Amino acid sequence: MVKIAVIGSSSMDLVVTSDKRPGAGETVLGSSFKTVPGGKGANQAVAAARLGADVTMIGCVGDDHYGAAILENFKQNNVSAANVEPVTETESGTAHIILAEGDNSIVVVKGANDHVTPDFVKKSTELIKRADMVLIQQEIPEETVEYVSDLCKEFGVQLLLNPAPARPLSQKVIDNANYITPNEHEASVLFNGLSTEDALKQYPNKVFITEGKEGARYHDGEKEVLVPSYSVDAVDTTGAGDTFNAALAVALAEGKSISDSLRFANRAASLSVTKFGAQGGMPIRKEVEETL
Ligand code: ADP
Repeated sequence: MVKIAVIGSSSMDLVVTSDKRPGAGETVLGSSFKTVPGGKGANQAVAAARLGADVTMIGCVGDDHYGAAILENFKQNNVSAANVEPVTETESGTAHIILAEGDNSIVVVKGANDHVTPDFVKKSTELIKRADMVLIQQEIPEETVEYVSDLCKEFGVQLLLNPAPARPLSQKVIDNANYITPNEHEASVLFNGLSTEDALKQYPNKVFITEGKEGARYHDGEKEVLVPSYSVDAVDTTGAGDTFNAALAVALAEGKSISDSLRFANRAASLSVTKFGAQGGMPIRKEVEETL
């Protein structure tokens, strides 16, 4: 079993469905309400555990009802939450999602995720040192991403950075990371001014750009390669990127080649979009291997 340390956000998604989206000052009646665990960090931790990795989450929740539910969800998915700390100063991270008129509107409140600071992560240094792969995203403070990238560099631990949500990155972080996985929008923010072709060429075997149902693109040192995804009946693409990143981290940590790892990641992510919810469709290892 490969050891994966995920450093990132955990939150509770509060999802209402309604025929109509309320305008300013308006009240409408909704038709359903669900709470589902989310946050890019937590999603990726759960996906990696379902794919057979030994996963530890490093993060913060609030000392509240949602925090307890988030911790319980880690337990149910075999993610070690020993390094997830309930903080008293603020509430758990939440995403307030309205599904209406065929689209979603989302308000994210970062809450406890802002407490995932360099000082907090420092307490997990030994765990990070022993990891086969560290997986990080950008729903936590920018300085933490930089700090973790330095730590991984210092200890020679592989780092996969999923630069989501989009924000520019320092050249140092780009250089410190072993693998970087933007979607097309994140790539345009990250490599502002560079064409996709040039960005990939500049970082061969390192930058993998995900292109939704098309799959993922990278440069192998000689040429640009598109590794196609699998054709599925998509029901809900929330969490596709999270499943992709987790699967890629697991496969690369296991020593699979880049092209095999990308195939594995595409397969896992394509299966994840066939069911509702970010975590709802995340496949187990067997489902991925049987359909590769
Ligand atoms: P994000 O969810 O971060 O925006 P993408 O939409 O690029 O990322 O999707 C990430 C990966 O999920 C893709 O590279 C692909 O492997 C898979 N994927 C997403 N949507 C589909 C789909 N409709 N059919 C098959 N695979 C998909």
